[in-house]
Amino acid sequence: MDPAANTTPAETTPRVTKSDDEWRAELDPEAYAVLRKSATERPFTGEYTDTTAEGVYECRGCGAELFRSTTKFESHCGWPSFYDPADSDAVILRKDASLGMVRVEVLCASCHGHLGHVFEGEGYATPTDQRYCINSVALRLVPAE
Ligand SMILES: [Zn+2]
Repeated sequence: MDPAANTTPAETTPRVTKSDDEWRAELDPEAYAVLRKSATERPFTGEYTDTTAEGVYECRGCGAELFRSTTKFESHCGWPSFYDPADSDAVILRKDASLGMVRVEVLCASCHGHLGHVFEGEGYATPTDQRYCINSVALRLVPAE
């Protein structure tokens, strides 16, 4: 399946809307750069790259539940990797032709914050053969009780 085939127009109105100044005041500079400016954290530097703790990964921008530890797998790519979002409505997929590549960008459906990209067909032994490659700084892990 082409993940871009079910792309939802990112022009839909986010449930959480804030001005750029509000986001800048609320988020630390690294999270702001990723979530609001589509930056990418350096590989192998994020706090959740190798985390195996059980829990739910929320959006650091708005607190929406995005991923669960049960779908996190070791991709060795340098960023936290998941094979499926917590809910297909939790994220928006959008074609991204920046940097001379065609990729599929992953955004938080609630606040439209940039999370990372999704790749597929890479041969990982996961149920979906997809890799949601997500910036740690865009997430917050809420450990299981
Ligand atoms: Zn969000």
